[in-house]
Amino acid sequence: MGAMDAALELLRRVFGYPAFRGQQQAVVAHVSAGGDALVLMPTGGGKSLCYQIPALLRDGTGIVVSPLIALMQDQVEALRAAGVAAAYLNSSLDARGQQEVESQLLAGGLDLLYVAPERLLTGRFLALLEHTTVALFAIDEAHCVSQWGHDFRPEYRELAVLPQRFPQVPRIALTATADQRTRDEVVERLSLQQARRFVASFDRPNITYRVVPRTNARQQLQAFLDGHRGESGIVYCLSRRKVDDVAAWLAESGVAALPYHAGLDAATRTANQQRFLREDGVVMVATVAFGMGIDKPDVRFVAHLDLPRSMEGYYQETGRAGRDGLPAEAWMIYGLSDVVTISQMIAQGESGDERKRVERQKLEALLAYAEATGCRRQLLLGAFGETYAGPCGHCDNCLSPPPTWDATVPAQKAMSAVYRSGQRFGSGHVIDILRGEASERVRQLGHDRLGVFGVGAELDNRRWRSVFRQLLALGLLEADGEGFGTLRLTAASRAVLSGARQVQLREDLRAPRGSCRGGARAASAAGSLGIAAHEQPLWEALRALRLRLAKQQGVPPYVVFHDATLLAMLREQPGNATGLAAISGVGAAKLARYGEDFLAVLNAPAKAEAAD
Ligand code: ADP
Ligand code: ZN
Repeated sequence: MGAMDAALELLRRVFGYPAFRGQQQAVVAHVSAGGDALVLMPTGGGKSLCYQIPALLRDGTGIVVSPLIALMQDQVEALRAAGVAAAYLNSSLDARGQQEVESQLLAGGLDLLYVAPERLLTGRFLALLEHTTVALFAIDEAHCVSQWGHDFRPEYRELAVLPQRFPQVPRIALTATADQRTRDEVVERLSLQQARRFVASFDRPNITYRVVPRTNARQQLQAFLDGHRGESGIVYCLSRRKVDDVAAWLAESGVAALPYHAGLDAATRTANQQRFLREDGVVMVATVAFGMGIDKPDVRFVAHLDLPRSMEGYYQETGRAGRDGLPAEAWMIYGLSDVVTISQMIAQGESGDERKRVERQKLEALLAYAEATGCRRQLLLGAFGETYAGPCGHCDNCLSPPPTWDATVPAQKAMSAVYRSGQRFGSGHVIDILRGEASERVRQLGHDRLGVFGVGAELDNRRWRSVFRQLLALGLLEADGEGFGTLRLTAASRAVLSGARQVQLREDLRAPRGSCRGGARAASAAGSLGIAAHEQPLWEALRALRLRLAKQQGVPPYVVFHDATLLAMLREQPGNATGLAAISGVGAAKLARYGEDFLAVLNAPAKAEAAD
């Protein structure tokens, strides 16, 4: 049997998958033959198999460096469920547990061993490795070596000793980082200049992107969640307080929502994370402190109630949805106040001028994305230097192109009102002036006597807010951020005022229903996965069995079977073991262990019920 036949045989027998995906096969061939590799693939791209299969094919144990304990445990559980001899070494094990793993390693009884970098680099452990056969070193989450990245781990730097101590052992570094600077640093720091590079597209085709203007955040969130009932998801908020508020409110309205942020004590954080991983349909309301190392494949949506910090952050956070390749949604609401709040945070932050300039640029890129009228996927991938032809056909703008209108005259009026009132006021006050609202403040300041007073009565408050938000996003006005978000003209304003530049703005749709049509559309009982009503009983029965088996074994449900596998069972309804074995995701070990139970459900009255 050739090496590639052997790889395919393993893929089918152990993992139960019919074929390699994308570049997996090329990576597996290269690394199995002893080559070094740098693998750049998005989250959900299937990086794990790229080192797991070569580790199984080559003599000895594959050593996997992984930054997070939770991540190691998940991976090891999943491998064991597939019948692979896998273990981990980290601080969660007691002395006895560690010793056991070490003797297994020395006895050559392990196919894969996951270790934390600080453990791997101890003199003792390196010496231990010299007495065993190492199949390969896999460096997972390799961007942790980079200071540019967001997850810098100093210990990763020292992994550069591996090629010196073990020159004959192939190394494979893997990351989902999309940012070029980080990638360059990974190569440099890990001495991977000679490694072959495998770069996949960073598109996540199964994620639908939507951005909606904020009208009533809670109502909008509720409508959105109605379309995802019973599904797992993450709701990101900027502040800890907002996390607490939103989680409490959702829990009250009957959603299985839990909070997660750095201000909660460690025990609560762990408990909430465990529930998110181990129960079906938990919604995590969180700050960005949540997510790194969460390998849960069936997160069906990621909602942003506040603007993320940068496009990289947005890509990372939304990327946690749909790792399993099934349909998922990235949804964000955004409004005028976001621009003002973030401008203030940048202005009042501790960072120096240079850093602030970078932060502003990042905000601008994000605003351009939020206000875009063209394909969002194109912009998102463009931010990482990837050319995507587009239109993608499944972002909100592609699905229903937003109407635009010529707002040149209102923009001129808005700018004049800002200028005439002295560039010292926020949008609320300037809108009062434009609309001719003689509020107490307007009268006190004598702004009802300005020439611009009342010149904008043709637009209502909501439309004016939309105009101001977009003018800020386009850089035609700026919020100074020093304290109250007062508005000022920018260098670009002049061209508009003089009539040299036209301003096209997007028309924010009026009805709250309209602004969350995504939610409304998905709100059919079918949910993200399109389970039809007549399929529900069997689907629920399969999920209930999976949950029961997972609980018995103390593992998350997806370690038993992924949703994709369950969905294939639902659609194909295999009647016997041969049929079940043909389902993607059902390998030999899982067939032996769970086959009977699932066949019982598939052949049980639930199915008969579903049929009438
Ligand atoms: P990454 O580490 O790149 O985020 P994973 O290795 O966790 O991705 O794989 C993502 C998902 O895709 C997992 O659910 C995995 O089981 C599945 N998968 C990976 N390779 C294949 C394949 N060749 N066929 C079917 N499913 C696959
Ligand atoms: Zn698109």
